[in-house]
Amino acid sequence: TVAVVLYTSDLRLHDHPPLRAALRSADAVVPLFVHDDALAATGFAAPNRRAFLADCLAQLDAGLRERGGRLVIRSGDVVDEVCRVATEADAVEVHLAAGVSGYATRREERLRRALEAGRRRLCVHDSVITAVAPGAVVPAAKDHFAVFTPYFRHWSRQHLRDPLAAPRKVPVPDHLHSADLPSTEDRSGVSAALAEGGEMVGRKRLTAWLRSGAAEYADRHDDLAGDATSRLSPHLHFGTLSPVELVQRARGQGGAGADAFVRQLAWRDFHHQVLAARPAASTADYRTRHDHWRSEDAAAEEIAAWRAGRTGYPVIDAAMRQLSHEGWMHNRGRLLTACFLTKTLYVDWRVGARHFLDLLVDGDVANNQLNWQWVAGTGTDTRPNRVLNPLLQAKRYDPDGAYVRRWVPELAGLAAPAVHQPWRLPADERAGYDYPEPVVQLDDALARFKRARGRD
Ligand code: FAD
Repeated sequence: TVAVVLYTSDLRLHDHPPLRAALRSADAVVPLFVHDDALAATGFAAPNRRAFLADCLAQLDAGLRERGGRLVIRSGDVVDEVCRVATEADAVEVHLAAGVSGYATRREERLRRALEAGRRRLCVHDSVITAVAPGAVVPAAKDHFAVFTPYFRHWSRQHLRDPLAAPRKVPVPDHLHSADLPSTEDRSGVSAALAEGGEMVGRKRLTAWLRSGAAEYADRHDDLAGDATSRLSPHLHFGTLSPVELVQRARGQGGAGADAFVRQLAWRDFHHQVLAARPAASTADYRTRHDHWRSEDAAAEEIAAWRAGRTGYPVIDAAMRQLSHEGWMHNRGRLLTACFLTKTLYVDWRVGARHFLDLLVDGDVANNQLNWQWVAGTGTDTRPNRVLNPLLQAKRYDPDGAYVRRWVPELAGLAAPAVHQPWRLPADERAGYDYPEPVVQLDDALARFKRARGRD
């Protein structure tokens, strides 16, 4: 018998329950990836993620070939293509990782119906894309947790399986046609310093991180210039690393750094369980707050300055420039730039979330949209009206200004504290720096925000 394994956001061989189950129940498997027309038509096919995906598919195929198999690639409507491949291979079942977005749920339902009509079975596997499945922990009489701390308490008590080894052999029927792997050379629109994708790269990074980075994570993760976080987010997004394996290996290592790292992985699961329960939160406010954001027209110049990293607030500009150069931004930078757009410029979080999704290599409907909502105060933050002051935050998280000097070369000649507030320099000295004046005064912005939220 033959089983199809439909790969989506789980592009790996290690700790892959759908592949292991398919190999257990069938003599041969078809590892299938479909370039889905519906996804290609959305912003999800942005250049940085397309380039990272090409690396992931190339390495998945290489790993399968080492095991006697190969990846089968098709494009079109995902349900039609799965059914076509299942017919060509005469497969009796299709294995798939459970997704969490509204789109993934609909895909699963359509697949189930279409396969059942052809007398085939859909087998859906939990704990592939998240460590703890959405819905596995819920508060009494509710369908999800809206607050992280109690969620984390329950999440921490969940039993996780031991990570599964990669299979030794993956027999794949050889008569099936496959489209070519996407080119890993196509760099059009891709950030200059985008990280490389793929399971092999991800596993090396994870091992190096656990060996030399994780121990100091608790103390250093917020240090903007120190760059002391794992940078594993794109690997988690594309599933080249298993969240179950990450949690288990970090726990095995132990210590305050590993504990803090595991807590961040729980944040990822937290947002996924919110989205699974409230799929509309990808575009609509999770809590209704009746915000009257400024219109995109009214704020057009400030939005453009924010996107370009020319707001006149060095730490904000540094982070936005990191985003366009690397397709990735430090978490503290994400918090500051998102807060600046929503609360200081008073612009709708969706405007910022869209820009992030255009560029982030880890851009993710659950993590991006719900973190944006968290910062904007329309989501799960229990202190929705807190405003981060970019100047105070810069002094705290980039005390000597190294992060700003790295990303804003116009200011490379300045030391802290001037590097964070160039507008305070004497006029003649200030004139020597080709760097914009602040787009807004922080006091005015804070007053506007408080008025808008009815808090003055
Ligand atoms: P580490 O600090 O090493 O953390 C390890 C892992 O934990 C991360 O890879 C990530 O998977 C998870 N994690 C950490 N913090 C969070 C968090 N707050 N929420 C959810 N998961 C978390 N993360 C994404 O993966 N995709 C996104 O599109 C995304 N958009 C964001 C937008 C905003 C406005 C904000 C404030 C945060 C966003 N994050 C997003 C969360 C976080 O900033 C990134 O996961 C983190 O910076 C990735 O770097 P790292 O892998 O070095 O993280």
